[in-house]
Amino acid sequence: MSDQILVINCGSSSIKFSLVDPEAGTHVLSGQVERIGSDSGFLSWKGAVQGENELGPTDHRGAMHAIVKVLRDSELDFAGIGHRVVHGGEHFTASCRINDESLEVLRAHQHLAPLHNPVNILGIEASRTAFPDKPQVMVFDTAFHQTMPRRAYLYALPHHLYTEHGVRRYGFHGTSHRYVAARAAEQLGRPLADLALLSAHLGNGCSAAAVLGGKSMDTTMGLTPLEGLVMGTRSGDVDPSLHEHLCNTLNLSLKEISALLNKQSGLLGLSGGHSNDMRTLLQAEAGGHEGAALAVEVFCYRLAKALAAQVVALGRLDALIFTGGIGENSTPVRARTVALLPFLGLHLDSAANEDHGRANRGIITTTDAPCAMVVQTDEELLIARDTASIILQPEISP
Ligand code: ADP
Repeated sequence: MSDQILVINCGSSSIKFSLVDPEAGTHVLSGQVERIGSDSGFLSWKGAVQGENELGPTDHRGAMHAIVKVLRDSELDFAGIGHRVVHGGEHFTASCRINDESLEVLRAHQHLAPLHNPVNILGIEASRTAFPDKPQVMVFDTAFHQTMPRRAYLYALPHHLYTEHGVRRYGFHGTSHRYVAARAAEQLGRPLADLALLSAHLGNGCSAAAVLGGKSMDTTMGLTPLEGLVMGTRSGDVDPSLHEHLCNTLNLSLKEISALLNKQSGLLGLSGGHSNDMRTLLQAEAGGHEGAALAVEVFCYRLAKALAAQVVALGRLDALIFTGGIGENSTPVRARTVALLPFLGLHLDSAANEDHGRANRGIITTTDAPCAMVVQTDEELLIARDTASIILQPEISP
């Protein structure tokens, strides 16, 4: 039997899949079905084999069948399936095997992530139907942050909202923060257990985390992935009275305000609707676009401010990690953010930053300790590794 793992990331209108060799750390095949729920579902894949296919009208189950066919036709086998799941609440503190019982507990957590968990569950159900003989595992965005102390995860709200309703900060992007923290330790040649790390995951969604000795001590996202940093289309932190204000002044409904904060804000909103994409904004800024310049300026300032705050959870700093599409690629964002943090002992080496730190273990500052560094994230690889290790363990029946 193959040792490869099929990793599935099921979103509301897409399913991304990737066949990963957890030992070698290689991606054998990756692909996605896009536009699920529309009349024009589209499947594409590349790697060991490549191709694309118009699926026409399709739902999650149909999309999963199309993926099964690609895998069967390619004769690529795998030992198990790992699913990315956004919210595991307080129950799931680590990745776990999927069975009727764990799936039931996950269903009970749907209300915590109404935008994400129901589609993750759809993907798991479709995948159990398609691959009834394959062991399957769920890997949570929240689990890594379950080590946060209560002073970091509690909101200053009536305490029963936490004890009775689970209203607290959970944090997300845990798979990425966990992966890059371990990689940073490897790149620095130091034990993870000794390190005080700041991790800045900057993609379409953005969050920062304080990782001490390999454990998450605080992070910028909260009950939902809306809290914290400025993101592609999400506002991040706003005054909690904003809802009432917008309702009173513009007569907006809760649903409209939620859509505004999640889909029309962040880089997109600040740039006057120009783009949610950092690369596009940096190009527009270079061409004199005022809105783009404003969006990048606010993004970097808010990021630096949040990073400085996260250091409180660490007490000291060994390395600031930049990762995600923006963190790994955007030289100007790293430069502007580090320039705001000289009091943490971080001073940019411009040439190293231009080269994404390739010449010196990812390091882009003039000193090695503390340092800022670039680390490539690979959430699929971590999901594959967790899955491989869990499916090797004997299943304990309930
Ligand atoms: P996701 O969160 O969807 O996985 P990614 O991690 O791929 O997103 O990050 C997407 C972001 O990375 C976009 O804002 C994109 O513009 C940015 N990005 C990718 N490459 C570059 C680059 N060379 N320069 C600046 N930004 C970049």
